[in-house]
Amino acid sequence: MFFDSVSSVVFPEVCYFCGAGNHVKGSVICPECRDSVRLVSQPFCNLCGLPLATFDDRSSLLCGRCLTKTPPYDKARYGVYYEQSVRAGVTRLKFHSSLFNVRPVAELLIDAFTTHYSNETFDAIVPVPVHKKRLINRGFNQVITISERLSRETGIVLDRTSLVKTRDTEPQVGLSRARRLVNLKNAFQVCRPPRIVNKRILIVDDVSTTGATVSEAAKVVRKAGASYIAVMVLALRSK
Ligand SMILES: [Zn+2]
Ligand SMILES: [Zn+2]
Repeated sequence: MFFDSVSSVVFPEVCYFCGAGNHVKGSVICPECRDSVRLVSQPFCNLCGLPLATFDDRSSLLCGRCLTKTPPYDKARYGVYYEQSVRAGVTRLKFHSSLFNVRPVAELLIDAFTTHYSNETFDAIVPVPVHKKRLINRGFNQVITISERLSRETGIVLDRTSLVKTRDTEPQVGLSRARRLVNLKNAFQVCRPPRIVNKRILIVDDVSTTGATVSEAAKVVRKAGASYIAVMVLALRSK
């Protein structure tokens, strides 16, 4: 894309989210857009990473759901809320993977990883896959696109082929958590178990509401023999 290749040369100081002048060094997001991005911060469940409703819950450090049933991963975290510039940026990226669209979203993902996982080591980043039918329609999976940047930044190997989506499922938006889980049942498969066995895996997804998709993905990664599974979801969509 001509615009992609020249954008950083021609517009070095433009915010990639809003197009306004950007004067923050090392960032493609301007201070105003940065301020509008709400981080998913404490109190959240120590295990699944979802916000806890009240400060009272904090004493347990786990949410009611995790207290009842242990999730199929060891730890999950959400970076930011899916709203305003994040929502606009992620939506744009879904339709076109230009550098201009990829960079700000990837920057938020890298920041979130640094906040929640900089003290941990991983053998591979495994992006949540889409079904091949959707890949044919859209041409790319935006989760892989931002995971590539995370991999480059952290030096963790990107494994884009071990986890596959074998069943095309209905969009999750608008479904209850129970329905989401039914919708996703047996939708994922690990096709190269040797690359997962005894490995520390970081599953990455872009947007989630209840964590149903990453849970289902983690389940098969666990079954394939991963020794540790962490989840990084860039954005949390409010119900
Ligand atoms: Zn901006
Ligand atoms: Zn929880």
